[in-house]
Amino acid sequence: MDAPPFSTLTVTTPLTLGGLSCADDYDPNSMPVDKAREYIRTFLTPVSGTERVHIRAALGRVLAEDILSPIAVPGSDNSGVDGYAVCFDDLSADSPVTLDIVGASFAGRPYGRAMNPGNAVRIMTGAVVPQGADTVVMQEFTQQRDGAVVIQPLAAAKVRARGANIRRAGEDLGVGRTALHRGCRIGAAELGLVASIGIGEITVYRKVRVAFFSTGDELRSIGQPLAAGEIYDSNRYTLYGMLTKLDCDVLDMGVIADEPAAVEAAFATAASVADVVITSGGVSVGEADYVKTVLDKLGEVLFWKIAMKPGRPLAYGKLGDAHFFGLPGNPVAVMVTFYQFVRDALLILAGQTRLPVAATVAATLRSPIKKAAGRTEFQRGVLQAGPEGYSVTTTGEQGSGILSSMAQANCFIVLGAEVGNVAAGETVQVQLFDGAI
Ligand code: AMP
Ligand code: MG
Repeated sequence: MDAPPFSTLTVTTPLTLGGLSCADDYDPNSMPVDKAREYIRTFLTPVSGTERVHIRAALGRVLAEDILSPIAVPGSDNSGVDGYAVCFDDLSADSPVTLDIVGASFAGRPYGRAMNPGNAVRIMTGAVVPQGADTVVMQEFTQQRDGAVVIQPLAAAKVRARGANIRRAGEDLGVGRTALHRGCRIGAAELGLVASIGIGEITVYRKVRVAFFSTGDELRSIGQPLAAGEIYDSNRYTLYGMLTKLDCDVLDMGVIADEPAAVEAAFATAASVADVVITSGGVSVGEADYVKTVLDKLGEVLFWKIAMKPGRPLAYGKLGDAHFFGLPGNPVAVMVTFYQFVRDALLILAGQTRLPVAATVAATLRSPIKKAAGRTEFQRGVLQAGPEGYSVTTTGEQGSGILSSMAQANCFIVLGAEVGNVAAGETVQVQLFDGAI
């Protein structure tokens, strides 16, 4: 479905750059986090290109076809334990019974004949249950004696019914059944499942192409000396890390000077080669004005103030066919806005139909948090599991430039817009960092 044009959508916030400032703490007109997320979703259509790859190369990719099983798994009834294949009717509820052992069935080496009542076949885990046998007794409940086996009464042998300890043919997958649905991301379990039905090549969506660059005259790349007031560009590295973990094709375009012609050229190149263009910096006051001018010329881009901390200013829109995310410049804000807005968008564009459930757990706060109501805060936290359940502390200073807080943290403490100060001992919601960070 094509996304509706921008003009038909209702956006609650006036889309002006004037007044966008990280310094303001509270703005009643800023957009709630959920609303921005929802809005972005209306524009996302998965990539359509596919490629056929060996299953090992498909790890982390998104399946572009339904996989039907050409065989039954398992292929025949087989034993779930080491023991004896027997006829259920030979067993007794009250007393031990003695059965002649007529042969053995090993995994990959079946007994190969039919077994008669009154007999037993020694059987190993995974071995085919001989024809004529309908139950397997675990060897722990038997004794072998002169070519025969003594089997304990039913209850003592833990045999509840006919068919005990037998794994049925097709119980994992029947012939023609859908083993995997289009849109699933191939992880270790999916790889194993595809291998279990003997399929060696599958069709996956092509990777989403993401071009990104940083803007800012103060930014230097590694290897260059720093003059007073200059800093190393870290955002391109956190973005590289998060994008690579999401299995995107990444194009790092470096630092672009604060110069309208250079920024315009970078946007044009990025939009012509990529599905998604991500920038950091320049969406707050200051440079913002001319970034907006360039973007207005090249596409349709909206600037929002989001009711969140960190990460207030955010831009989203289209540059031709490419999606554009303009993230704030502060290093922590880049990671938070990526995690809260860009990640799911990339997964949807990649063709993934079931998005990961945000792993949110309740935890007891171990130190108090000061917070103003009116915006959602994503504080960096360290979650611990103890005998009394989960507890969490903040990483300390929560400035949006303190990147070490992200390295120390293993979760965001998510404090809703309505929440104010939180006392130690209260319960808070915690969003675990998963794959992307
Ligand atoms: P801006 O949004 O451009 O006003 O930037 C906000 C803050 O983030 C400033 O302190 C910038 O120096 C810093 N910043 C912007 N881009 C980067 C970057 N690529 N790496 C590290 N810090 C950055
Ligand atoms: Mg800047």
